Amino acid sequence: MMNRNKAAIAALGVVAALGLTACSSGGDPEPDVSDTMGGDGMMEFAEGSTMAALAEAGTITIGTKFDQPLFGLLAPSGTPEGFDVEIGKIIAGELGIPEDEIEWVETVSANREPFIQDGTVDMVVATYTINDARKELISFAGPYYNAGQALMVLSDNTDITGPDDLSGKNVCSVEGSTPAQNIAENYPDANLSLFGAYTDCLEPLRNGQVDVVTTDNVILAGYVAESEDAFKVVGEPFTEEPYGIGVALDDTEFRMWINDVLEEIFADGRWLEAWNATAGTVLPEPAVPTVDRYEN
Ligand code: GLU
Repeated sequence: MMNRNKAAIAALGVVAALGLTACSSGGDPEPDVSDTMGGDGMMEFAEGSTMAALAEAGTITIGTKFDQPLFGLLAPSGTPEGFDVEIGKIIAGELGIPEDEIEWVETVSANREPFIQDGTVDMVVATYTINDARKELISFAGPYYNAGQALMVLSDNTDITGPDDLSGKNVCSVEGSTPAQNIAENYPDANLSLFGAYTDCLEPLRNGQVDVVTTDNVILAGYVAESEDAFKVVGEPFTEEPYGIGVALDDTEFRMWINDVLEEIFADGRWLEAWNATAGTVLPEPAVPTVDRYEN
């Protein structure tokens, strides 16, 4: 029911946009309602859009990780920090919502789709790989970063250098994550243990209960950086994990608007600035991703 209403609202937005396009004289760039300011200095968004509703409310609920250094880590201040968090703040800012009006909700790997579907969060920015299975349930803006699955072992480990060495090894990952699914499907001889969050794997790795922790290279890099030389990442990334921003399945208007914001911040330096202030303290500067405006 809610989905159908939202679709109708989104359709109205498209009609409004087309109407404006038809009125504009040839050669000019299409007018963008979302970028204009009203007489009162408030941002104006297409009527009935999620952007208009959020801007009007003056607050947004964003799901992110709370235990992943560099991307989303809860700071002693009580708010999370990291590259995902900065991306969330920029999007909120483009809606006219200041940082202190963002409500951060912890999302773990397995509850991201349900939290978007049931409206617990307005969007998810949480090392969230765009893939077709998830696109059946929710929609993705982005990507805003391209990661890849890797392996983390104890620093003195010498017998694991890549996924082909996992046979008979105790491998730790997280429920509802793409790296766990990849191991289960393609490396069935590994003994896979699944927890709720990646930090649940760290103590078992330290004390030898598991031999390997697997997830995206950049998440592991955060744990290595905090491990005081106890852990290392081995080998090259062996999957592609493009990070997207999850929104409601039928909210194409919101998804495309976030894509517009991403393209703007790729171009004007804000994306790189956010990177340099967070993950860039440990990881190399990434290539600028190409936004995927897929049809659903
Ligand atoms: N990017 C992968 C995923 O979305 C792994 C990281 C995570 O679990 O957040 O499943």
